[in-house]
Amino acid sequence: MPDCPRGPVTCHDGPVTRPDPYRSLSFWHDTVPGTLTPGGPLPGDTEADVAIVGGGFTGLWTAYYLARRDPGLRIVVCEREIAGFGASGRNGGWCSALFPASLGKLARMAGHDTATAMQRAMQATVDEVGAVAAAEDIDCHWAKGGTVMLARSPLQLDRARAEVQEAREFGFGEEDLRLLSGNEARSHAAATKVLGGTYTPHCAAIHPARLARGLLAAVRRAGVAVYEQTPVLKLSAGQVATASGTVRARHIVRATEGYTAALPGYRRAVAPVYSLMIATQPLEPAVWEEIGLGTRPTFGDLRHLIIYGQRTADGRFAFGGRGAPYHLGSSVRPSYDQVPAVFEALRRTLAELFPVLGEVEVSHHWGGPIGVPRDWCASVGLDPETGIGWAGGYVGDGVSTTNLAGRTLADLITGTDSEITRLPWVGHKSPDWEPEPLRWLGLNAGLRVMSVADRHEDRTGRPSKAAAFMGRFLGE
Ligand SMILES: Cc1cc2nc3c(=O)[nH]c(=O)nc-3n(C[C@H](O)[C@H](O)[C@H](O)COP(=O)(O)OP(=O)(O)OC[C@H]3O[C@@H](n4cnc5c(N)ncnc54)[C@H](O)[C@@H]3O)c2cc1C
Repeated sequence: MPDCPRGPVTCHDGPVTRPDPYRSLSFWHDTVPGTLTPGGPLPGDTEADVAIVGGGFTGLWTAYYLARRDPGLRIVVCEREIAGFGASGRNGGWCSALFPASLGKLARMAGHDTATAMQRAMQATVDEVGAVAAAEDIDCHWAKGGTVMLARSPLQLDRARAEVQEAREFGFGEEDLRLLSGNEARSHAAATKVLGGTYTPHCAAIHPARLARGLLAAVRRAGVAVYEQTPVLKLSAGQVATASGTVRARHIVRATEGYTAALPGYRRAVAPVYSLMIATQPLEPAVWEEIGLGTRPTFGDLRHLIIYGQRTADGRFAFGGRGAPYHLGSSVRPSYDQVPAVFEALRRTLAELFPVLGEVEVSHHWGGPIGVPRDWCASVGLDPETGIGWAGGYVGDGVSTTNLAGRTLADLITGTDSEITRLPWVGHKSPDWEPEPLRWLGLNAGLRVMSVADRHEDRTGRPSKAAAFMGRFLGE
């Protein structure tokens, strides 16, 4: 039997419609157990207490905690494709305590102690995700091995020291973030050129599609109605209009992240920036012995243009990075997930980090949009007048942040006063992006500068002024 390519395809031995066309979205979708055949769409007009637009982690966690707070609530989720179709099913699987705004930035927004509280809440969120996965019997390949960030040049080592210094100023000790010597860093991940790095225990490597599909099953068990293949055409106070009917509800939650710009009224709210990934074939145990990552810590290095990786439970590298272009008008298309030059750069970078990988065979290539707000700061909130809530703008740090968002929205919607509703991102309003073509120019210039800055630093050993300027322009 010849090997069929993945996806809804014609095979060598005749046309075949694969039952799960969504499997071709990513390595994670390809290997998630169970069917990806969509459930039925919204069958017609209906009423609910809460209508959620988007069936990614944000929408599913919100539904999950709402159903737990008040099992009597009628909750409807409308998802255009299938639950876990977007970034939630395709990401790098870092369930981390990273929040997409630095402690310094949060302190400028809301004060020193509030910034510390936000970081502590993020740390607790990592464990909350693990606890729910265990309680709901979701085998998402959870491995809380922390994160090692490698410093592979003197400038990267300076950045590692600065990060640890900032953590100390906010009361975080060795148990939260540690500076590593070269030998210590290499004992986690034996990459080339390593001079040192940082280590935090606050991160778990996961299989994201297993978590997304497991959450779907959990919310359905709790009585939430999830309608797949139900595109929302418009949302407004009290109603969500879809192609197959209208949901009337007092509360509506916008959970559309990188896809938000296509909704009427939200064109400039969140810019979709692409992150792309590759997965290798499973590697021999001897190769892993040489590389390390034995407890499955997630890893990256401290270059400007982000790279990230994990050792998967079945012994592959899942490795990703930015660098794919932003598209005019914040458009999102399946073809934008595939940028051969970026895939090749990722493969080269992986082999440069770990030469034992040489010409390693890559089995999967994929990508997806992350949601970037103009000030690079995620937010969650509920407008008490319209009843419309939202969460997003996680940039590349949404795996755990969506859980905190879901709990926060559940508290806001049920009127529960809690510590998490007082965190600084609650009610934060990011400004709109510039109109086009300025947005296109600014974002693509930013991506270009970051990649040129890395080459400049490698060549000269001096920091890039352009990168520092662009970081400020983009509000990082
Ligand atoms: C390649 C990649 C790697 C990443 N790596 C990491 C990582 O390692 N760690 C980390 O923390 N974060 C990572 N992220 C980011 C993280 O995955 C996201 O922040 C998070 O999943 C966002 O969840 P969400 O539910 O808000 O959005 P999504 O998962 O994108 O869900 C939005 C959903 O809304 C649906 N939708 C959109 N418009 C409509 C509409 N009109 N009607 C109905 N439904 C609609 C979409 O189909 C989609 O399913 C990564 C992202 C990508 C793309």
